[in-house]
Amino acid sequence: EQLLEIKDLHAGVEDKEILKGLSLSVGKGEVHVILGPNGSGKSTLMNIIMGHPKYTVTGGSMTFEGEDMTEMKTFERSRKGLFLSFQTPEEIPGIIVENMLRTAKQAITGEKVKLLPFRKELKATMQELKMDPEYAQRYLNVGFSGGEKKRTEILQLLMLNPKLALLDETDSGLDVDAVQIVSEGVAKFHNEDNSCLIITHNTRILEHLKVDKVHVLMNGQIVEEGGPELIEDINSRGFAHIREEQEG
Ligand code: ADP
Ligand code: MG
Ligand code: MG
Repeated sequence: EQLLEIKDLHAGVEDKEILKGLSLSVGKGEVHVILGPNGSGKSTLMNIIMGHPKYTVTGGSMTFEGEDMTEMKTFERSRKGLFLSFQTPEEIPGIIVENMLRTAKQAITGEKVKLLPFRKELKATMQELKMDPEYAQRYLNVGFSGGEKKRTEILQLLMLNPKLALLDETDSGLDVDAVQIVSEGVAKFHNEDNSCLIITHNTRILEHLKVDKVHVLMNGQIVEEGGPELIEDINSRGFAHIREEQEG
């Protein structure tokens, strides 16, 4: 059974069509990677899966656990178990990490999350990520280094425990340490009950993961699919030969 199923999706912003008949499915427990040149529509796809209000779906279908989600608001999608990690985490003065996570968890579960057990879980998870527990009481991302922002992102992933994690790491220019944090963190998160859809140019992100499927996105469509060997192929040959095969 597919967790996420997208069929012939047409979508864009204002009058501009960006996704032009895109189809893609992700099964439960699977790790999928999207590769594609700059401007091909990768980030747009992630935003549309999350229901970002700036984008409009004009055709096709999108289901999560078999349920149509094209009309669902972003918070409903979060409640269903979708999570998008931001490419460039925002600094939010006034919002304390612990409160943000607890509020998000309450919103997602629809239940009151008791402070003390939550704090205990948070502390244990931060310990696992080798984070100083002091960060729980700091303003979200304010004055955080790149690596600390990435750790905080992984902390969100582990604490909110979504069914499908959408990770857009494309243009983030991560340094070696940050790549390692993401790579180990996603591996820590992933298990047979959840799925990951990852956009990355940096294949070291995938070091600790078993990739099930790779999709190549070009000009708003998936033009090629394959196993992890496709990553090596594109790393060495680039996207040009796929484009030629498409046109040829
Ligand atoms: P990628 O993540 O693959 O680099 P994007 O999804 O960011 O590509 O962008 C795909 C295309 O859609 C680009 O031409 C981009 O300029 C355009 N686009 C994306 N978002 C918007 C927007 N909010 N307004 C106008 N154009 C957009
Ligand atoms: Mg079509
Ligand atoms: Mg992008």
